[in-house]
Amino acid sequence: MLDLTEVSLTVDEREALRLADLQGLSHEEGGELMEVSRATFGRILRNARRIVADAIINGKAIKVEGGNYEIVIRPRIFVCENCGYEWEEPPGTGRPQCCPSCKGEELTRK
Ligand SMILES: [Zn+2]
Repeated sequence: MLDLTEVSLTVDEREALRLADLQGLSHEEGGELMEVSRATFGRILRNARRIVADAIINGKAIKVEGGNYEIVIRPRIFVCENCGYEWEEPPGTGRPQCCPSCKGEELTRK
């Protein structure tokens, strides 16, 4: 992650994304929860989406200001149904063809 350019999301922007895009709340409901007007919620959300889109399209890391966490691409863990072997595939490599341990083809994403 050290080589990536960082973009910043404020805690409010992160919260707006969480409420609207993860929980599917309306701007009205989101605004109420964050104690801002519907219009303000919409503005925060637009800004947040632009920052996230920039990060995804241009390969930047997202840093959340005021928080001690960063959003990183989650590792992809696969489990073999045959032997129970678990392993991690790096992002962007596609779905593995078979289990590295037993060559079984019944794989599930954890
Ligand atoms: Zn296996």
